[in-house]
Amino acid sequence: MKWTQTLIPTLREAPADAEIVSHKLLLRAGLIRKLAGGVYTFLPLGLRALRKVERIVREEMDRAGGIEVLMPALQPPEIWEQSGRAETAKDVLFKVKDSSNRLWFLSPTAEEVITTLAANEINSYRQLPKNFYQVSVKFRDEIRPRFGLMRAKEFIMKDAYSFDATDEAAMASYRKMYDAYTRIFERCGLKAFPVEADTGVIGGNYSHEFMVPAETGENEVAFCEACGYAANLEKATSGIPRTAAREVGPAIEKFATPGVVTIEALSKAPYSVPANRQIKTLVYIADSQPVLVLVRGDDQLNETKFAARTGAVQVRPATSEECMATLGAHPGSLGAVAATLEHRALTRLDDPAPKPAGSETSALKVIADERLRGANDMTTGANEDGFHFRHVSIERDIKVSEWHDLRTVTAGEPCVKCGKPLKLRRAIEVGHVFKLGTKYSEKLGANFLDEAGIRKPAVMGCYGIGITRTLQAVIEQGNDKDGVVWPLSVAPYQICITPLAVAPDSPAMQLAEKIYAELTAQGVDVILDDRDERPGVKFKDADLVGFPIRVSIGEKSLAKGEVEIKPRSGPVQAVKTDDAAAAVLRLIKG
Ligand code: ATP
Ligand code: MG
Repeated sequence: MKWTQTLIPTLREAPADAEIVSHKLLLRAGLIRKLAGGVYTFLPLGLRALRKVERIVREEMDRAGGIEVLMPALQPPEIWEQSGRAETAKDVLFKVKDSSNRLWFLSPTAEEVITTLAANEINSYRQLPKNFYQVSVKFRDEIRPRFGLMRAKEFIMKDAYSFDATDEAAMASYRKMYDAYTRIFERCGLKAFPVEADTGVIGGNYSHEFMVPAETGENEVAFCEACGYAANLEKATSGIPRTAAREVGPAIEKFATPGVVTIEALSKAPYSVPANRQIKTLVYIADSQPVLVLVRGDDQLNETKFAARTGAVQVRPATSEECMATLGAHPGSLGAVAATLEHRALTRLDDPAPKPAGSETSALKVIADERLRGANDMTTGANEDGFHFRHVSIERDIKVSEWHDLRTVTAGEPCVKCGKPLKLRRAIEVGHVFKLGTKYSEKLGANFLDEAGIRKPAVMGCYGIGITRTLQAVIEQGNDKDGVVWPLSVAPYQICITPLAVAPDSPAMQLAEKIYAELTAQGVDVILDDRDERPGVKFKDADLVGFPIRVSIGEKSLAKGEVEIKPRSGPVQAVKTDDAAAAVLRLIKG
């Protein structure tokens, strides 16, 4: 390709709304352009890099036994009603209406479509296992699209869906995908590592995310260098001990705490109750129901864990008014001591219809973090503004309905597997593998007859890779002050030939054309910078776009019968003109 034939609109400065380095470089290197927030056009070079990521993904999916299909982006809502996700995924679903006012969803993933297909096409264990995959545009109504391709409203994903006859076979399919993902990210030049993950809206019971470490990542991961344990903070647990029980103390006692509404204030004189002897009482609205959530005063509730453990689809902290309505006190004085809850019936806050007296009998649910199990001599709010209780014993004084691991792990806590200190780091999720089980196959009727002729739902898995996000992660990981530093495998062009004179009959241009032809014949992706620009401009652009190897042909070296070869992050080497193509090939082959 000749530089002047294509379109590479490099920019000296990134637009102000680009916050992270990879987003800036995507724009500055002329790889993408924004049409609207979260919606981008791929320019020729960006598209070339994207196609290379796709190709690696396809090769490894095929190698792992995947079979490629292409499913529609327009999906009928009925199958989403059947799976139950019309409700659970409603926040991200793009909905469109056709001219006859019929509703459609734009595909955010395709579990419903592929399971419907399997329901119709797969009838016998003899047809299993199957792993269908596609590479296609996905739509998600992200509330905060940001960081360019990282979180877009429209993006490209590879999604795959496996169908197996048994649980063991499904585990084997999962393992195959896990291994394929490891190879895919390696081939993309990415340092990605798998972590245990929450299963979220898609559901299922076993899941890993592939993470690329990056300060700008939207995920936080807890990991252990000693044994390799790694988990998304939404899922991570640690071996931190439970709250130490004390000699069973005196009975519960109410005391005045005027104006004290924080854990910290209560930990100071004259009260001096350390945070680890306080119970933090939070009111959450879980699918419209108020729920009390208890964690230790020095711990933070993890909302994702809370939602996952309770099966709630939508959770949010209650407002101060809702706390008042539920418990009769404001945040800062809330508690779950049973005696203060007795008269507090469960009210649905979204349901204004008046209820006949006595009809609301179910008690408020109290969900407590495991770290509080057995704790006594604790202090907590009295559900009366300006008062707390002390000497509270969880088992004696509070009716806990459910115990779960709900707290967020912090750095330095002992690893749950080996006890060594955990570390935290930020990371970008580039891929996700789920074992789904039979959730979708049951709901959408993807059954088969097993060897004994018994009808069974297929055991499923689903596996996503954000192709566009992966591309940007490559840049987030590979860059320096001058621009992108591409791995050879993903670079839009591997080689940039830069003749410093571009008149067609100049010796520099003629040699450039010759090397271009030789390398192209060898299957190398080459771009020839035929712009009539100053050397400084051409070198700067080549570094900004980040071509892995630059071959420059200037008058001085030509006079010596040489050209200069420069790897993007390595020293210049002079080679004889006749050896130029071979030297480049040697560099590429490593
Ligand atoms: P996230 O937690 O980042 O919102 P997710 O867990 O909802 O992502 P999945 O449903 O697991 O995403 O989708 C598979 C892959 O698709 C993700 O691992 C990610 O690489 C990519 N992806 C998801 N949402 C987006 C988006 N809005 N823009 C770009 N890529 C995305
Ligand atoms: Mg995910």
